[in-house]
Amino acid sequence: LPVELFRSQGHDRSNSMGLNLADDDRLRQLAEQVNAAVADWRAAPLVPGAQPSGPEIEVTNPADRRQRVGRWQAADAATVERALANAVAAQPGWDATPAASRAALLEHAAELLEARMAQFIALCTKEAGKTIPDGVAEVREAVDFLRYYAGQARKLFVPEPLPGPTGETNTLQHAGRGVFVCISPWNFPLAIFTGQVAAALAAGNSVIAKPAEQTSLVGYYAVQLLHEAGIPREVLQFLPGDGATVGAALTKDPRVAGIAFTGSTFTARAINRAMAARDAAIGVLIAETGGQNALIADSSALPEQLVKDVLGSAFTSAGQRCSAARILFVQDDVADRVIEMLAGAMAELQVGDPALLSTDVGPVIDTDAVKMLDEHAARMATEARLIAEAPGGAHLAHGTFFLPRAWELKSIDQLEDEKFGPALHVIRWKANELDKVIAAINSTGYGLTLGIHSRIDATVERIASQARVGNVYANRNQIGAVVGVQPFGGQGLSGTGPKAGGPHYLPRFATEKAVTINT
Ligand code: GLU
Repeated sequence: LPVELFRSQGHDRSNSMGLNLADDDRLRQLAEQVNAAVADWRAAPLVPGAQPSGPEIEVTNPADRRQRVGRWQAADAATVERALANAVAAQPGWDATPAASRAALLEHAAELLEARMAQFIALCTKEAGKTIPDGVAEVREAVDFLRYYAGQARKLFVPEPLPGPTGETNTLQHAGRGVFVCISPWNFPLAIFTGQVAAALAAGNSVIAKPAEQTSLVGYYAVQLLHEAGIPREVLQFLPGDGATVGAALTKDPRVAGIAFTGSTFTARAINRAMAARDAAIGVLIAETGGQNALIADSSALPEQLVKDVLGSAFTSAGQRCSAARILFVQDDVADRVIEMLAGAMAELQVGDPALLSTDVGPVIDTDAVKMLDEHAARMATEARLIAEAPGGAHLAHGTFFLPRAWELKSIDQLEDEKFGPALHVIRWKANELDKVIAAINSTGYGLTLGIHSRIDATVERIASQARVGNVYANRNQIGAVVGVQPFGGQGLSGTGPKAGGPHYLPRFATEKAVTINT
C-alpha cells in the first residue's frame, strides 16, 4: 500500500514491499538463488550454558523424501530447565532496556531478513514444502511483524497521562510480564514464529521459542538472525523438541508468565489446562487455532472472479492455512456453472515441486497429513460426489502429496472437524436460505475467516454482521491477511484473540500499572 495512505490513516510505517511476482526476471533470479541456497542445514537448542544431549532428527524434502536437507537436535529435560533459569534471570534487565532500544533491534532484524530473503525462502521450501511465492509472502510477513510490533512498542511503553483531580498525577504504565513461551506452527514457520517472538520481545519479556517439530530448521535460523541483530542470547532462547517433552515441560512450569500458541484447538485446550493446574500466578494464553471456513456466493457473484478466489482460498499453500476456504456455499441458480468452471480450473493446477516456479500446489507437511487426507477422501468417496481432482503424475511418487480435490455435499453436517489440506467442499443453497446458511456456519463453533461473493451491498453487510468470525473478505480471496491492514485471528473455537498484526496484540504481552501521585 502507498505510504501516504498509511500516513493518512495515522500509521507511521508501511509494509515490506516483498517482491513483485509479476516481474518474471526477478522471480527467475530468486528461484536460482533459492535452489543454490540449499545446504546441509543443522539446528540445535540455543540455550547458553546447556549441553544438549537430545536425539538428532533428520529433515527430508517434502517434495522428495529421499533427499535429506538437514538435521536438528531436540532439547532434553536438562536443557529445558537451563532455558527457564536463564529466561528468569535475563528478563528484568531486558524489561529495563528502553522500549525504543528493543524496537531498534527488531527493526535491525527486519533489515537482515529482507537482505536474506532467498536463504529463508529456501528453508521454507525445502523443510515445509512452501512454493516460492509463498516463501516471499512468509519473509514479507515476518518483516512486517518485526516492524509493526517495534513501532507499537515505541508508543505503548511511554507512560500515558490519565485525567485526575487537581494535585494528583495519574499515569498508565506498561511493562513486560516475565518469561513468555512462544509455540508456533509449521504452516507459517517463519512469519508466525517471528511474529509471536517479536511481540513478546518488544513488550519486555524474555522468550523461549519452541518451533513446530516439522520446521525446526526455519526457527533455528530465524533465532540466529535475531541474535545477530542484537537480541541477547539469554533473552531469546530456542528449544526445539516434541510437544510431550519440551512443550509439556514449559506449559506446566510456574515460572512461565504467558504463552503464545498457534496450532490446533485440541492443543490449545491442553495448554490452558496445564497452565490452570499450576500453583502459580494465573498466566495469559494467546491462542490462534483452527477454523472451518466458509465462502458464501450468491447468484450475483461474478463466476470467473469467484472461481479464481475459490481456487486461491482453498488450494494456495496446499490448503494448509488456518484461513483457507473449506466450504463453498453456492446459490443453486448459478451452482452448475460455477462447479463446471471450478472443475475446469482444477484440471489445470500444477501439483509438484515447490522449488519450481511452474508449481501451483506443493506437498503437504508429512505422511500423517497424507494419511489424514486420504482417509477423508475415502469417506467422501462414499458420502459425496467428486467434482474434480487435480492431475497427478509420476513426479509426485516420492513426496508427501495429496492432490487437490473438491466434492459436492448435501449438508455441512456431513463434515466433521477441519481437514487441513487442499480439500474443498461445495454445498448448494436456495434463494430463501441465506439465514440458514449463516446459522449453519456459526453452528460449527469455529469463527476464523469468511468469504462472501455478492454484488449486492445489503447481502454483504447482512452476512458480515451475522457471521461470528474474526476476518470477513468480500469479493476477493480470504487468505493472506496483511499485518496492520487485516489484523488476523478468530473467535470461539478459533482462538482467544487478540488479533495478530493488530493494535491490541502487543498490550496483551504486557502488564498494566496505574500510578497515582499526590503532589
Ligand atoms: N494469516 C494467514 C492468512 O491470513 C493464516 C495464518 C494461519 O494459517 O495460522 O492466510
